[in-house]
Amino acid sequence: MSRTLVLLKPDAVRRGLVGEILGRFEAKGLTIAALQQRTIDAELADRHYAEHVERDFYPPLRAFVTSGPLLALVLEGDEAIEVVRALNGATDGRKAAPGTIRGDLSLSNRENLVHGSDGAESAEREIGIWFPELIS
Ligand code: ATP
Repeated sequence: MSRTLVLLKPDAVRRGLVGEILGRFEAKGLTIAALQQRTIDAELADRHYAEHVERDFYPPLRAFVTSGPLLALVLEGDEAIEVVRALNGATDGRKAAPGTIRGDLSLSNRENLVHGSDGAESAEREIGIWFPELIS
């Protein structure tokens, strides 16, 4: 059993795709261990995306993720990190495979609906940022 930090980014909320996306995770068999909706500030965006803050694409990404409410959740299940990334699909929605969340629902490499932790270490780091009460 493992756990991962997932974001449904502001485009998912704005476009009314929360139910569709959560339904895919639930239908796969993952369990929602924690969930919150919030609008984040630049400081939290910078902590979450610490590895990207110096990148050229980061300022518009920061503007996007702070632009409205998003959902943060912890999903649990067997190989949850890898399973969520497979369900999410490739970063660029235009290139993501059909059948994936991004491949079916996004035409953008920035507004790509979802985030999933990319490994066990980042999952625990990100859960600590969004749900510090879950870190022992
Ligand atoms: P995530 O970490 O959100 O699950 P990812 O691992 O597929 O996505 P990363 O390379 O970690 O992608 O990039 C983090 C996020 O930054 C992407 O999900 C996307 O929103 C944005 N991003 C990445 N590359 C670009 C780019 N070239 N142009 C615009 N936005 C980008």
